[in-house]
Amino acid sequence: MNELEKALYRKKRTLREVCLEMNIPLEDADIPNIETCSSCSIWYRSVELVLDLDGNPICTVCRRFYGM
Ligand SMILES: [Zn+2]
Repeated sequence: MNELEKALYRKKRTLREVCLEMNIPLEDADIPNIETCSSCSIWYRSVELVLDLDGNPICTVCRRFYGM
């Protein structure tokens, strides 16, 4: 993971917010390894997310919560 990804990882922050803080233009944001859980909006590594019944990526915490 790069510095930007590390700053977002497992946090509920917006990309815009962290880019501002790190002085990175939003259009230069490079986050190939992480994605947000579509349920709780926390950033995880893409490989840590699973698809729910509707095909949306969700984290294992939400997955357990929904009892899937
Ligand atoms: Zn989640």
